[in-house]
Amino acid sequence: MPVDLVADIRAARRIVVLTGAGMSAESGIATFRDALTGLWSRFDPQTLATREGFKRDPALVWGWYEARRRGVLNATPNAGHLALRDLAAMDGVADLAIVTQNVDNLHERAGSQQVIHLHGSLFAPRCLACAHAYAYAETDGAGQTSPGEPDRPVQPPRCTHCGGPIRPGVVWFGEELPTREWAQAVDRVREADLLLVVGTSGQVYPAASLPAIVEQNGRPVWIIDPDEGLAKGTREFWNSTAAAGLPALVAACARKQH
Ligand SMILES: [Zn+2]
Repeated sequence: MPVDLVADIRAARRIVVLTGAGMSAESGIATFRDALTGLWSRFDPQTLATREGFKRDPALVWGWYEARRRGVLNATPNAGHLALRDLAAMDGVADLAIVTQNVDNLHERAGSQQVIHLHGSLFAPRCLACAHAYAYAETDGAGQTSPGEPDRPVQPPRCTHCGGPIRPGVVWFGEELPTREWAQAVDRVREADLLLVVGTSGQVYPAASLPAIVEQNGRPVWIIDPDEGLAKGTREFWNSTAAAGLPALVAACARKQH
């Protein structure tokens, strides 16, 4: 474990953690493309992850996201998610925000308080027509979480406000990031003493502009990822996975305080 990384965390009061698919991989959450198996292998991302695709076949698209949501409900936060919760509570850390590209809820279920979803959430669907938020019924989760339930098209529910179809709350291809969440992320990053980038290349825009803001402020950016290919440029890099590295890192930081 890099000594400088421990020192940077010890020195930081305001930390932002940018997380991506690698954060949840060890919880068994497949990436979008890796999840295109079985029933879904015939479909391409343009069909399943665009507004046009949803309008063409709402049941197909809603069924796909329900299958993914079921997968998340059957998964559990890994040791990396739990370590970030612990890092937020550590002495000396005044503030820790997680800015995630993931659409699962594993950070929240691990107990993290400040989670900003840049790409939306599987758990925040809304009306296609009027954007009214849709609340899942109590039974929606319980009835649909059986791991053995086959994937299938499912007609989306209707909006209680206008009767329009409910669409998944994730950002699709060709759509802007949610304005409020993006503004929150930029605000937090501007104030950050330290940015940790976990399980994402941090190189796809617009999210890639967040590390640049921290660097312009002269603050450290650390990439924590098992892919050595990301260790380029001037950024600090630690070759580790989220579930293995983050608990060890938090333990090392805590120990140094005594
Ligand atoms: Zn509506």
